[in-house]
Amino acid sequence: MKEEDHNVNSQTLINNWQQVKEQITQAYEQASERDSRSPNNTILLAVSKTKPADMIAILAKQGQHHFGENYLQEAIEKITALKARPAGESIVWHYIGSIQRNKTRDIAEHFDWVQTVERDIIAKRLNDQRPADLPPLNVLIQLNIDNEDSKSGCLPAQLPELIKAIKGYERLQLRGLMIIPAKANTDAFARTKQLFEEVKADYPELDSWDTLSMGMSSDMAEAIENGTTMVRVGTAIFGQRA
Ligand SMILES: *Cc1c(COP(=O)(O)O)cnc(C)c1O
Repeated sequence: MKEEDHNVNSQTLINNWQQVKEQITQAYEQASERDSRSPNNTILLAVSKTKPADMIAILAKQGQHHFGENYLQEAIEKITALKARPAGESIVWHYIGSIQRNKTRDIAEHFDWVQTVERDIIAKRLNDQRPADLPPLNVLIQLNIDNEDSKSGCLPAQLPELIKAIKGYERLQLRGLMIIPAKANTDAFARTKQLFEEVKADYPELDSWDTLSMGMSSDMAEAIENGTTMVRVGTAIFGQRA
């Protein structure tokens, strides 16, 4: 078997993508009946880890802008391969994998967003290493909403301290929160939304605070119901990963 055999063909890929967008619209419309949010500005992050650059190019051509990657070496190869884009097909790259201290320079040099910042030491390195000719790096704090020792992410109790640190970094733009909740934890979305709104109220000077990244292929609708602003969808668009 060739390695690409698990990848869907381009028509299936486009169909999947359109279906996911449709599901987002429907989930949003159902949610907005209750709290009259308007209009639907939920961002779809297409999670392309392990998938080839060709598939990313096909979706970029359809108008998909935001792509998420977890594995640095693989990501840099794709980012480099897809560098020259036609007008209107630009790609915004999000790093959503765990961050090792010695990898911060590569992340700061190649990505537009980092969603997995959980410690000041990492934030400071990203700030110091962000190239001067690029705009500030957009940052989300990954929150350990389940308060589990084994999980990555900043504990809710440590959030104010981390926000305060990142606010002071000129080469970073703090945009909000990201979570990967434990499956069993059913009210994680609602609690994260509440925390997100509390930060917004507590730090009025933080006008870049506008993004709540929660919801994946399996729980997208539930996240939208709870006020997410960005869903991260891999499998439902690209098919199973090898
Ligand atoms: C892989 C991954 C996703 C996408 O997961 P699917 O279940 O394939 O939609 C979303 N977020 C993060 C952080 C991931 O690592």
